[in-house]
Amino acid sequence: AKNSGRDNLQFFTAELNERVTQRLQLENDLRHAVARGELLLHYQPRIDAATLTLAGVESLVRWQHPTRGLIGPAEFIPIAEESGLIVDIGAWIIDEACRQHAQWRERGLGMVPVSINLSAVQLRDNGLCDTLRGALKRHAIDAAQIELELTESVLMDNGDAAIARLNAIKALGVSLSIDDFGTGYSSLNYLYRFPVDKLKIDRSFIQNMAAAPQNLALIHAIIGLGHTLGRQVVAEGVSQESEARMLREYGCDELQGFHFSRPLPAQEVEGWMRDRCA
Ligand code: C2E
Ligand code: CA
Ligand code: CA
Ligand code: CA
Repeated sequence: AKNSGRDNLQFFTAELNERVTQRLQLENDLRHAVARGELLLHYQPRIDAATLTLAGVESLVRWQHPTRGLIGPAEFIPIAEESGLIVDIGAWIIDEACRQHAQWRERGLGMVPVSINLSAVQLRDNGLCDTLRGALKRHAIDAAQIELELTESVLMDNGDAAIARLNAIKALGVSLSIDDFGTGYSSLNYLYRFPVDKLKIDRSFIQNMAAAPQNLALIHAIIGLGHTLGRQVVAEGVSQESEARMLREYGCDELQGFHFSRPLPAQEVEGWMRDRCA
């Protein structure tokens, strides 16, 4: 027991070392992921709550790592953001979503908008509008078919600069959603000032819906608030029939979650475009 303190410390530093090394390795691998064609997008259906037809799809990035298998965005997007790689990766994501949309169009599938998640670092990048404009043009995409999702914190952190950037993006004709709504520092003031078209209620509210009645009141209020401001309201993380039923009663505009579909590879989401379009 005399040496256990030092043993623990040695164990701790060894483990820390291991983790730092792994993280550096991952960042290094990520540096080449785009060029090596290792990134891919999955697409999760968004459902029109009134008609239960397909309203759109959200693109969600994955990394097919050569030795570690399929890695989810929660594991590598933060690394991409901290290292600045997200600007190039984000540009690839924007281009790929547009390329895929054009392919769906060429194949005569039901056309629904595709939404793309943007990180704070991308919004701050001066090249963002050019990147968007370039991808729209390259694939001859009607800008109305593209929606961008930004979290509340992204908007708050950037203040007036963010508003100017968002207005420039909106001028391209794409629409904007606030992602994870309710988890940040929502204020009526900024909600009113940001030129967003949609609010996406965070999954954490939906998942506790049935258990906690105060969440019901909150969700109901968010939907009412959104509509008062002329915004559409989407619920994410809808995983049960009972949740879908209540959200439809409350007049939520779109529903998304495992109850309807998990995120799917491009080919698999085509079934929805064939059979479930309005
Ligand atoms: P998000 O934008 O809030 O995306 C929704 C996440 O919730 C997705 O996880 C999706 O698979 C998951 N989800 C959807 N429905 C359900 C449900 O019913 N139950 C549960 N438990 N989960 C559900 P995913 O794909 O792992 O993405 C995680 C986060 O990574 C995203 O959260 C987003 O913040 C970020 N992300 C994903 N793709 C991109 C991207 O292309 N660019 C950027 N910057 N971030 C991305
Ligand atoms: Ca999202
Ligand atoms: Ca979320
Ligand atoms: Ca999110």
